[in-house]
Amino acid sequence: METARTRPALVVHGGAGDIADDLVDLFDAGVRRAAEAGWAVLERSGSAVDAVEAAILTMEDDGAFDAGRGSILNEDGRVQLDAMMMDGATLAAGAIAAVETVGNPISVARAVMERVPQVLFVGRGAERFAEALGFRPVDNEALVTPRERRLFDETRRQSDSSPDVDPAASTAGGRGHDTVGAVALDDRGNLAAGTSTGGKAHKPVGRVGDSPIIGAGGYADNESAGVSVTGDGEAVMRLVLGKWAVDRVADGRSPQEAADAAIERLHDRLAARAGLILLDRLGRVGICFNTPRMAWAVRHGDGLQASVTERYEATDEVGG
Ligand code: ASP
Repeated sequence: METARTRPALVVHGGAGDIADDLVDLFDAGVRRAAEAGWAVLERSGSAVDAVEAAILTMEDDGAFDAGRGSILNEDGRVQLDAMMMDGATLAAGAIAAVETVGNPISVARAVMERVPQVLFVGRGAERFAEALGFRPVDNEALVTPRERRLFDETRRQSDSSPDVDPAASTAGGRGHDTVGAVALDDRGNLAAGTSTGGKAHKPVGRVGDSPIIGAGGYADNESAGVSVTGDGEAVMRLVLGKWAVDRVADGRSPQEAADAAIERLHDRLAARAGLILLDRLGRVGICFNTPRMAWAVRHGDGLQASVTERYEATDEVGG
């Protein structure tokens, strides 16, 4: 007897923030490419975990996003990366934080998830773990794009000439929150989620945000939904926002209702800004953000939808 197949679906984001006009097309193209890369996996009956990794890899390598190459620089002018991955079938999770020699942190987060009992590795330990598994270390400079170096230097100059300007509060060049993430549902009904980031501009060395924190920056549970969050990491962590949103789906709300409620809560309790993508076990999608813009894309059997400037119009339809 043939077992009923779930209709696969995939949602990605390229961060919620100001996203300057001259970056809109770049971000739009980037999330579309990522969604198609993830979809190519799901379409040939690949796993949700593989689809999430494939989608995020394209955005880490893209150079436009605050993830992998092209990430925002920290106060020392270096790239310092965080990422997480979670498998909703087993609740296995893996994450790395504050790494400087890893080009594709999502793959190392996945390796943590699948190959060791630990969940989170940081700094040099995470780099050593990656090297031991055969991930070739990269030079930090190779992750720095000329654009990010220029923005860093400009902000530094401004704060040197007016000491009351806090470089960490700057969103120079329309960069703010351009973290990337993906949530996938495969044809076996398995959900997976991942998030990858360079964090915030001019962040202090060693600062880690919500992105690699399981339940804050991402979560996946086959019984309810998967989520990836982007935005003000300190606020997102304090509300454990990703898991909070997934739990609302478990309580019976639609993913869009849960996404809206999560952003409302973030605003009401902490006056903070963020965005999130949700995908439930039925393939229903929820996307919400209270930043000016958010890059997102949704891919299922009926095609691709993406935007940087528009809101997502949710239907309760299951991905075709
Ligand atoms: N949430 C990330 C962080 O706080 C930033 C972002 O989403 O852009 O590190």
